[in-house]
Amino acid sequence: MAITTISNLEKKDLENQGYRVVGNHSVVKVCHWTKKSLKSEDVCYKCQFYGIKSWGCVEMSPTWLCDHRCVFCWRNTKYSWPKWIGPVDNPKDIVEGCIKAWQGLLNGFKGNERTDQERFKQTRDPLHFAISLTGEPTMYPKLPEMIDVLKEKKISSFLVTNGTIPEMIDKLTKHQPTQIYVSVYGPAKAIYEKTAMPLPKQAWDNLQATLNKLGEFNRSVVRLTLTKGYNMVEPELWGKFLSKLDMTFVELKGYMWIGHSRERLTIDAMPTHEEIQNFAQKIAQTGGFKIIDNKANSRVVLLMREGTKAERFLEYDAEGKVTMPAIM
Ligand code: SF4
Repeated sequence: MAITTISNLEKKDLENQGYRVVGNHSVVKVCHWTKKSLKSEDVCYKCQFYGIKSWGCVEMSPTWLCDHRCVFCWRNTKYSWPKWIGPVDNPKDIVEGCIKAWQGLLNGFKGNERTDQERFKQTRDPLHFAISLTGEPTMYPKLPEMIDVLKEKKISSFLVTNGTIPEMIDKLTKHQPTQIYVSVYGPAKAIYEKTAMPLPKQAWDNLQATLNKLGEFNRSVVRLTLTKGYNMVEPELWGKFLSKLDMTFVELKGYMWIGHSRERLTIDAMPTHEEIQNFAQKIAQTGGFKIIDNKANSRVVLLMREGTKAERFLEYDAEGKVTMPAIM
């Protein structure tokens, strides 16, 4: 039985939520911030922090299944599965199919008087892929090849992973996304397992193996999704844990009370931006980090190790395309 293939019933459910299904197992959707940025109302925090263009960003995932059942996840975590079982679509078909479906979803913006038409024109030639929409992308066996396809098209890529498949992370060190995100849900095994409820028994050990490879990536981010009553605890322990890792940036993001997470948590689990900033301050003091930016309406704070010189903003060429790091 092809578990990783999206059934017609699931497809209908996903399409009713604004997704488009591409091939057997990929999904794409227009991000809230892409819509806002096309109307010049606001941009996402990754635009503010790193300079990616929210209006030219295709939010997608080559799989909609995940091997975690995080308590704070907006997804319906009944769609959780530990490994790939089913057909594996061609990476070029996925990339081109997602671009086509995403552009189709944006057609309504063309005739909208509030749309910045210059930005809309740029959606005809997308600039960025956020491989973070849903599920665990590293479960997709041809992810390195998909990253290569994006590079050939001069499209930058931010890949978000929960780090439970270190073999795939290893392969990606030779096929690097523009920026890799590893989501870490606890500074210790017990806190991690309580918050993420991983399916694979060795998930915590696999995550450590992944974190030990961060130094091999040009740009890497460790991202915390902080949820009160679960992993928004012991900032000093977090500081010590993070101080041992060789990442470029650390993002502290507050849990948002949205989607299916409301069936598992109350709104009290959602920290305020001020609480996130105070927590970040304590982590920075313990771990030797400095706070370099924040965005209140995304409840996120950006940290960097004291004394590191990593270039925060991405470089763009004359066509407005990100200039790629040399590693292939
Ligand atoms: S980077 Fe993320 S938040 Fe920003 S526009 Fe893309 S999908 Fe949305």
